[in-house]
Amino acid sequence: MELELKEYDKVLIGIGDDFNTKTDDSCKNSWEELIFIENHVDSNIIAAFNHLQTVLEDTDHFIVTTCNDDLIYRSNLDEKRIVTPCGGFRYLQCIDDCSHELLPYESAMYESHEQIVCPHCKKPVVFNRMPIDNYNEGGYMEQWQEYNKWLQSTINKKLLILELGVGMAYPSVIRFPFEKTAFYNQKSIMYRVHESLAFSTPELKERCVCVKANPVEFLNNL
Ligand SMILES: [Zn+2]
Repeated sequence: MELELKEYDKVLIGIGDDFNTKTDDSCKNSWEELIFIENHVDSNIIAAFNHLQTVLEDTDHFIVTTCNDDLIYRSNLDEKRIVTPCGGFRYLQCIDDCSHELLPYESAMYESHEQIVCPHCKKPVVFNRMPIDNYNEGGYMEQWQEYNKWLQSTINKKLLILELGVGMAYPSVIRFPFEKTAFYNQKSIMYRVHESLAFSTPELKERCVCVKANPVEFLNNL
């Protein structure tokens, strides 16, 4: 793939569900999901992220991902340039989000996890990750603001938009806003990489390259 990232002023990356570790019905609660994901870490995905970091070096980039397995934070990608709006395992929250407080999670907590309850209402706590009722958005808000600031800086700049494995799970997080960003920035070019949903909108036809491919392989070939 002849794609030279350094030729662009800005690089916006969207990483979708294809990169996320999927839990199954054997997980009855948040804590079981944590253990399931620990036991199913896909080293190919972390390797792909590490490769992405090498090609992104010296670029001004930002990454939005709907993944909520935290694998991205195990890679060499720069945490300051990542936002994970669907949460992950970094925080716990009250199941009712009664106080809107988040409790930073540390692995040492796991041993006594059955005793961990909300300090305010004593109800169970769950990991701050989608999909849950009463999802506390506070876990990613600071980075979301950084992302929006960064997006402002892309106006009138030569922008590369790389959308990787983004399906229809949470289209309002990446897919639709990326289309909008591409539409308004006439100097942008968008690569939409997906095995089955690599379609452009009619408005973007001229500036959208639809790549029907496995996004992990696409990344590794960059
Ligand atoms: Zn509570």
